[in-house]
Amino acid sequence: MNSPDAEFEAVIGLEIHVQLSTETKMFCGCRLSFGDPPNTHTCPICLGHPGVLPVPNRRAIEYALLIAAALGCEVAPSSIFHRKNYFYPDNPKAYQISQFDVPIASGGNLAGVRIHRAHLEEDAAKMIHVGTSGRIQGSDASLVDFNRAGTPLVEIVTEPDLTSGAQVREWGQLLRATVRQLGVSDVNMEEGSLRCDANVSIRPKGSDQLGTKTEMKNMNSFRFLERGIEAEIERQTGILRNGGQVVQETLHFDPATGELHPLRSKEEAHDYRYMPEPDLVPVAPDSGMLEAAAAALPELPEAREARYRDELGIQEGAARLMSVETAWAEFFEGMLESEPEIEPKVAANWLTGELAAELRRQDDISLGSSPVTPANLARLVGMVQAKRVSNASAKDVLVKMVSEGADPEQVVVGEGLEQISDSGELESIVDAVIEANPGPAGEVLGGNEKAIGALVGAVMKEAGGRVDGGEVNRLLRERLTAD
Ligand code: ADP
Ligand code: ZN
Ligand code: MG
Repeated sequence: MNSPDAEFEAVIGLEIHVQLSTETKMFCGCRLSFGDPPNTHTCPICLGHPGVLPVPNRRAIEYALLIAAALGCEVAPSSIFHRKNYFYPDNPKAYQISQFDVPIASGGNLAGVRIHRAHLEEDAAKMIHVGTSGRIQGSDASLVDFNRAGTPLVEIVTEPDLTSGAQVREWGQLLRATVRQLGVSDVNMEEGSLRCDANVSIRPKGSDQLGTKTEMKNMNSFRFLERGIEAEIERQTGILRNGGQVVQETLHFDPATGELHPLRSKEEAHDYRYMPEPDLVPVAPDSGMLEAAAAALPELPEAREARYRDELGIQEGAARLMSVETAWAEFFEGMLESEPEIEPKVAANWLTGELAAELRRQDDISLGSSPVTPANLARLVGMVQAKRVSNASAKDVLVKMVSEGADPEQVVVGEGLEQISDSGELESIVDAVIEANPGPAGEVLGGNEKAIGALVGAVMKEAGGRVDGGEVNRLLRERLTAD
């Protein structure tokens, strides 16, 4: 669905928080951790004791520069940190150190979606809300885990260039793959190392004005975000069609019920009283740091997809999958490395088509935990390409490769699956089948082309699948049009 209906179009902008996978926090030496016992990675700095001094994490700045380079952003020669003031138990300083009017990066583009800015900041502590039915009796309570407080974040803000939930999912997956490829974050939405807020508004089609937006917070998967956005587009379209007005508010989408609930409205919005952080000097990356970031850029998913499609002739769906899912790309590259003569397009089809389907069929095994290696799959594809085994036999071999980790060469030889290459042997099977099936043979002779299917099937069966369907077809036609 590209637009809500004929009258209105959706406008969507994203704010994405990326937790950087540095060793230590943004402004202190505490280790980053996920899943450790609460409040075991804290110090006076990240607990906000008075009088302490923050020191920026050089690695976090390098990671931000990598993200900036990957998104084609301009890096500010000198950006500054601000204090964003708010009072909440997840934030003992009562301000978050963030960047405000001069972010470290601005003005990029990823796959046609413009990046407004990307800036550095620190994460807040994690709140765990315990209801009356929870561990603390008699009253609601909130617990705070400061392990997360001070984790380095890069917030990426797009221009409102997206137009549907499906497009947000696809683009979000591309962004996630891009950041993952940089090695600067785990980008795990369920664990919160990638968090995506979507701003959604509706306007009359063709208008260049922006409508009032709502904000959807922190969905833990792009699929849910897609569904939430579609629901919100529908809700706003309904309001406008009935002559109403959209109220600016923050919403939560419940994937279980498909319902949208308001979290807070903009009237209660904070005045953050941003002020320059006096304890930190500006971030001024030197040319060496900028060059290092540019030089460290790996091939990114967008470029990889284009190369697969345009240079290797791989179909769009397979090229997309392999560029977004790094494990698949690595598997594919491994195949080409071990058997350079196989055709990339055929290799990609076996990987993303046949193997993917077989993994799903056999208990949804993931590529990483399957016993099939790139070399083994490449060997199998090589045998198909050399016409040593038929497509049909190769699929049977693949089943064993997935279930038993079998070696394709051994299965093919051990089970006698090599194609009948002796043309005399194949011809005699063809002749025998024609003789045993005078009905269909007569029909083909009489001009009914379709009847040949039954004969091809019979030959394949007789030969135990060890023949090439095209070759059988050709031989049958030759026989049945001979006189
Ligand atoms: P705010 O001041 O509410 O934070 P910003 O202008 O900073 O809003 O934009 C935040 C995000 O919302 C950006 O991703 C931007 O592209 C997006 N956005 C802004 N206005 C709209 C709108 N009318 N409809 C959809 N998205 C919008
Ligand atoms: Zn600390
Ligand atoms: Mg804003």
